[in-house]
Amino acid sequence: MSDPKLDTASETVSFGYEEVAPAEKTRRVGEVFRSVAKRYDVMNDLMSAGMHRVWKDDFVRLVNPRAGETILDMAGGTGDIAFRLAASGASVTVADINAAMLEVGMERAAKRGLTSLNWREQNAEVLDFADGSFDGYTIAFGIRNVTDIPAALAEAHRVLRYGGRFFCLEFSTTTWPGFGDIYDVYSEQLVPRIGELVAKDGDSYRYLIESIRRFPKMPEFAAMIRAAGFGQVKYRPILGGAVAIHSGWKL
Ligand code: SAM
Repeated sequence: MSDPKLDTASETVSFGYEEVAPAEKTRRVGEVFRSVAKRYDVMNDLMSAGMHRVWKDDFVRLVNPRAGETILDMAGGTGDIAFRLAASGASVTVADINAAMLEVGMERAAKRGLTSLNWREQNAEVLDFADGSFDGYTIAFGIRNVTDIPAALAEAHRVLRYGGRFFCLEFSTTTWPGFGDIYDVYSEQLVPRIGELVAKDGDSYRYLIESIRRFPKMPEFAAMIRAAGFGQVKYRPILGGAVAIHSGWKL
């Protein structure tokens, strides 16, 4: 499996199944999310048959936000995780590199009358926040799109206070053999077609599936989180690992 981290020998990174320069990956990922932003939420429901809502509910339950805590929802996009976190009374900052995704998120928040969220355009690899600013850091379906994942993990560690927690929800690789075959057909063939038919954007959805394939397996990603300095790193597979929740603590 090719490594989504920067390949220092050739200085390329994976964009789906292609190898491109790091700046080119960041640009193309930007295009993908600008292109899907308006239809992002409806497509998520369609592609996962609504299951992403359950995964996100479970994820936030594990994060266990509490009133008065400060939580950074990184790559927060249109706000799905932030809305759930904020229901606890935590003070939530939603950060994302893509202004189009944040705009949709802010419109959704306004419709819900949610005024407490702090929206920030930020690259996960180089955050503006001071060291030790947050009690919690969450990132859902975001990390695999980041060009320099070790840099983003190092920044997550830096902006958390000692005793703070890191939680990541991401697609991974299922270890259930039969399910793996069905999932392959679904993701490789059906998702780009649905993307083409419904969102008129097969290429973006092809990238999203390819990026899942290139993402490290659960133990490898756990090792990357450990390498960034986190302790008590764990992962919980969902559907045998088709989706996984990784967590760690700044100790
Ligand atoms: N967290 C949201 C959710 O679960 O619905 C959005 C996930 S969406 C699949 C991925 C998000 O990652 C996009 O909004 C994209 O702009 C963001 N992203 C990609 N690269 C990023 C980076 N380097 N820094 C911050 N956000 C990034």
